[in-house]
Amino acid sequence: MLVALILLSNQSAFAWGNEGHTYINRAAAQKIPADMPRFLRRVAAINEIAYLGPEPDRWRSPTEFALKNSQEPDHFIDMERVSWLDPLPSGRYEFYRKLYEKRAATTDHADDYLPEHVGLQPYITMEIYGRLKAAFREYRQLQAAHKPTAAVQQAIIFYAGWLGHYVADGSQPLHTTIKYNGWVGENPNGYTTEHKIHWQFEGPYVAANIKQADFEGLVKNPEKIDDPFNGYLAYLRQSHTFVEDVYKLEKAGGFAGKGTPEAFDFTTHRLAAGSQMLLNLWYTAWLESAVPVSNDHPPAAPVAK
Ligand SMILES: [Zn+2]
Repeated sequence: MLVALILLSNQSAFAWGNEGHTYINRAAAQKIPADMPRFLRRVAAINEIAYLGPEPDRWRSPTEFALKNSQEPDHFIDMERVSWLDPLPSGRYEFYRKLYEKRAATTDHADDYLPEHVGLQPYITMEIYGRLKAAFREYRQLQAAHKPTAAVQQAIIFYAGWLGHYVADGSQPLHTTIKYNGWVGENPNGYTTEHKIHWQFEGPYVAANIKQADFEGLVKNPEKIDDPFNGYLAYLRQSHTFVEDVYKLEKAGGFAGKGTPEAFDFTTHRLAAGSQMLLNLWYTAWLESAVPVSNDHPPAAPVAK
C-alpha cells in the first residue's frame, strides 16, 4: 500500500505525462517561422526539443535528492496563495521575501506561504527564457563576427526545449491551484476530493486518447509578447480560470477510459495553448536578443551577504 501511495503521489506531481510534454514541444518546434534561425528547424533540432519536453520530470527521482528537492516547486504555482500580491515581483528573491513576510503575519497554516509550497512556476520560466535570450544574443554576435556558431546552437536548442517543460506545465490548470489533486474548500457541486484527478487527466487520459495531430492545427504563427513576465502571468491566470472545468469534466466521466468529446475538446485546447505560448516565447526571445545590451552601466556592486 505504502509503495503504491508513494508511486501515485510521485506520478501525480508530473504534468502532462511524457506524451503531453513531448507533443507540446514538438508541435511548437514544427511551427518555428522562417524569420528565426534555420538550424532550429532541422529535424535533429526538433527531435531534441521534443525529447526535452519531459526533461525536468527526469529530475524527480529520490536517488538525486538535492536535485529533486531544489526543483520540485518549479512545476507549479498556487495562484490562490498569491492573490494578495499584486503585482508579483519580477525576481524570485523579492518574491521569497514577500512570502516570508506574509507567513510571519499569518497565524493559521502559516507554512502555506513558504515559497516551496506556493510554487515558483513563473520564476523558473522567466529564468530559462533569459538564458535562451542571452544565448540568441551570443549567436547573433558570433554570426556577425563570422565565427563558428555550432556550440551556441546546441545551447539554444537545450534552453528552448527545457523552457517548454514549464510553459507546458502552466497550461495544465491543476498546476496553478491549491486544488491540484482533489477539490478543497466548500464543495456544493460535489467535485472529487480523491487524490487522483491530476494524474488521471494529464497522464493516462492524454496518453490513451490524444495525439499531437489532434491539436497541432490549433497552433498559429508566433506573436511577439510585449512584456514577457506579465504576458506569462496572464497566461497562468487564464489557465487558472479553467480549474473548475477540469473538475466538471472529471465528474462527468470525461477522463475515464475513452473519455467524452467535451474532455477531448478541452484538453486539445489546453495542449495547444501550451504550444502557442512556448512558440511565442521563443519568438520573443529571438527578437529581443537583437536589442544591443548597453555597456555604459558600471559593474554591479557586491551584494551584501
Ligand atoms: Zn512539470
